[in-house]
Amino acid sequence: MAKDKPKTSPVRQQYLDIKAKHPESIVFFRLGDFYETFDEDAGIVSEVLDIVLTSRNVSKGMRVPMAGIPHHAAENYLSRLIEKGYHVAICEQVGTEPVNGLMPREVVRTITPGTIYEPSLLPGDKNNYLAAVNIVEDRAGVAHVDITTGEFSVVEFEGLNIIQQVKTELNRLNPAETIMSDELELGNGNGIPGFQTPIPSWKFEQGRCVGLIKQHFQVKSLNGFGIEKKELAISAAGAILQYLKENQPVSLSLLTGIKTYSLSEFMNLDANTRRNLELVQTIRRGEVDGSLLGILDRTVSPMGRRMLLQVIGMPLLNVDDINHRLDGVSYFYEKGILRSELRTALKALADIERITNRIVGKTALPRDMVALRETLRKIPAIMELLKVDDNIIQQVIANLSPCEEVCSILERAITEDPPATMNKSGVIQLGYSSELDEVLESSRHAREWIAGLENKERERTGIRTLKVGYNKVHGYYIEITRANAENAPEDYIRKQTLVNAERYITPELKDYESQVLNAEEQIKKIETRVFGEMCVLLAKSAEKLIKTARILANLDVLTNLAEVAALEGYIRPEVVEEDVLEIIDSRHPVVERSLSSGERFVPNDAVFEESERIRIITGPNMSGKSTYLRQVALLVLMAQIGSYVPAASAKIGVVDRIFTRIGAQDEIHSGQSTFMVEMVEVANILNHATNRSLLILDEVGRGTSTYDGVSIAWAVLEYLHNHPKLRSKTFFATHYHELTQLSELLPGVRNFNVAASEVDKKVVFLHKIVPGGADRSYGIHVGQIAGLPPAVVQRAQEILSQLEASSGHAVNLNPEAAKQIQLFPETNPLVDELENIDINTINPMDALNKLYEWKKKYSTDE
Ligand code: ATP
Repeated sequence: MAKDKPKTSPVRQQYLDIKAKHPESIVFFRLGDFYETFDEDAGIVSEVLDIVLTSRNVSKGMRVPMAGIPHHAAENYLSRLIEKGYHVAICEQVGTEPVNGLMPREVVRTITPGTIYEPSLLPGDKNNYLAAVNIVEDRAGVAHVDITTGEFSVVEFEGLNIIQQVKTELNRLNPAETIMSDELELGNGNGIPGFQTPIPSWKFEQGRCVGLIKQHFQVKSLNGFGIEKKELAISAAGAILQYLKENQPVSLSLLTGIKTYSLSEFMNLDANTRRNLELVQTIRRGEVDGSLLGILDRTVSPMGRRMLLQVIGMPLLNVDDINHRLDGVSYFYEKGILRSELRTALKALADIERITNRIVGKTALPRDMVALRETLRKIPAIMELLKVDDNIIQQVIANLSPCEEVCSILERAITEDPPATMNKSGVIQLGYSSELDEVLESSRHAREWIAGLENKERERTGIRTLKVGYNKVHGYYIEITRANAENAPEDYIRKQTLVNAERYITPELKDYESQVLNAEEQIKKIETRVFGEMCVLLAKSAEKLIKTARILANLDVLTNLAEVAALEGYIRPEVVEEDVLEIIDSRHPVVERSLSSGERFVPNDAVFEESERIRIITGPNMSGKSTYLRQVALLVLMAQIGSYVPAASAKIGVVDRIFTRIGAQDEIHSGQSTFMVEMVEVANILNHATNRSLLILDEVGRGTSTYDGVSIAWAVLEYLHNHPKLRSKTFFATHYHELTQLSELLPGVRNFNVAASEVDKKVVFLHKIVPGGADRSYGIHVGQIAGLPPAVVQRAQEILSQLEASSGHAVNLNPEAAKQIQLFPETNPLVDELENIDINTINPMDALNKLYEWKKKYSTDE
């Protein structure tokens, strides 16, 4: 009943009104030095951040849950909430005066995973993308933005299985957050990286989005961006602008244009292939170390590192573009000294992209300005280094600029060693702002005047014991001992009487005092304003700064690839238009580095004859089939990102896609069995590969019974070989030796195997890929070295012999024999010997000798 309802306190009502506008976010409500959270938000915050849940009286007899964090430590707490996918609305006190007894408060921004700005919350080595997706029937638009670097791009595409295509693109981008219509059904565990934020579908409405884009970029038509006909790209971009406007409005100013791209510009790498080839992280532990990135990343700047990550995810398709990048790498490969000088220079540079963004977003700090100034001062030396007679390099650095206008503002405006934040004065250089100079000058003058007062007054009054002092309560004063008090001049005003002295002030002294005391506050105020104005001025050069940052990032990437090539002994691949694959003595870039000392990586060739389409690789377990398959795929990919490759020589015809089906990874969380996953992947490959694709199929059919498995593998190979639209170059590793017969039936199939030799019943893997099919798997041998109990190994040998004797036909295995798998089989000679020992007569020495003898005779340890 309304009349029973206790009256809500004004600040509680203010909180409730604000929370009602931000129901999806945790509201950090500023109260004094704390951000407080209430009700359900408080429950979440206390649980996630492990802080105490208290309560607060909000009206008579009513307490609500509350949890608070000190505002100065907010970043650390924020990062933990954002990592868990929560959105946090920061509600600050605005203004300095209460209105009707209440401080006005409003949400100044909402932090979501894709709209993080704070340097301490951001990963420096990769972009933090916010993506938006719109799908209508068989068409999709994907937009992505990194508000910390100003990158804003869109793509539109169409086709069968559009959702899969969208997922592939999102996996490539790896956004921190993706916004999509709340009506879009992609299913749980849908394979989209990062967090997903549903928004009302009307936010994708066409007319509205066109309006938003035009308004933001202040253009009359979208023609300039090349997206006027791309309705879904427009709606995705519009939704992003709207989302930023609502949550992080300051970030909008850095978005100065939209780039459109097409999926056909670069190789489409699906999520499986990225994962299987361990491009940027390992499958097992998700670590960079052990991935291709781990090997290729020796970049020296955060800008370069982010660009390298993009480059690895976007292998090029255009031969000229690839060779262009390779030319750049080659140049620096050849010029070792220049490379090393350049890398040393690049290493000293700050993250211009992100600093520029903080300038535009008005969150830059004095130390950002110092870093930018230092960085810009170093660019002329870099340009000097690159004054070389080489077309490619000149193209690479065409727009590289020391941004003199920015540098000169910073040199004039910022002191050499300013405090880290604006909380202290001393940021703005003398001579930059006349207003500030005046205040500084009068403060200096006032200090000097006060400092000289004692002597002056001693002279004037003849009182040698006269002192000028300062205390917090009364400020500056002139002190005269009681004995001399009667000689105090007329203009002295008595302020305080002590036991032995009198203290005085003069109007002039008070005047200078206020100049000194107010100056600090006034200086800080003026400096903050001047700093802000300077940011606005610098922001005009944002585009130029970002361009410069990207050129420097590109230089880092090129010299990095050259450095890796030189250190790892890679060679320049010949990348051509024709459909060829001729790789000699290739190595797996990661495995060759992970071998222990003494082990040598055995190089292998991958040379496809003209008529060859499918290479079936058989061979023992653990011999290196998977390594070989992945290494071919990695080399092709490396070549197409413009990297040198680990081989003696490599001629590679550009491939349009690399498909992989490797190993059995259970996807129980997505409700699919191992075999189901395997078949879905194979189906995807058969439906999308072309004759210019590279297929890496490792043990297809292994997830089911042998006969089903062989049959499926056989049929898949036939289909790949015979289908006019397929005929992709295929590497197919298998333990089904039956498949080697295909080489006699299909002209494009060749058999290869990994050589192994057997010496003294011990198998030695040679890791060499040689023509011909393998006749054995040595699986039992691998089981033995893996530590299977000897009885199991022995029994497996027997069963294998019987199976082989029946040449693969179903055999009726002797059930009696099956019973023999016991810890001590009846026929075990060790048991016999044990039985022959008389425990009562044997002396300890003999017993020990016996044990020693048995150990030598029966132990399988080497
Ligand atoms: P399985 O059939 O059991 O899956 P596999 O034949 O695919 O085995 P890999 O996993 O490729 O074998 O290789 C096993 C190990 O052999 C690797 O981890 C690596 O240590 C070593 N190895 C593979 N290839 C080579 C090589 N060319 N030179 C040296 N060592 C190699």
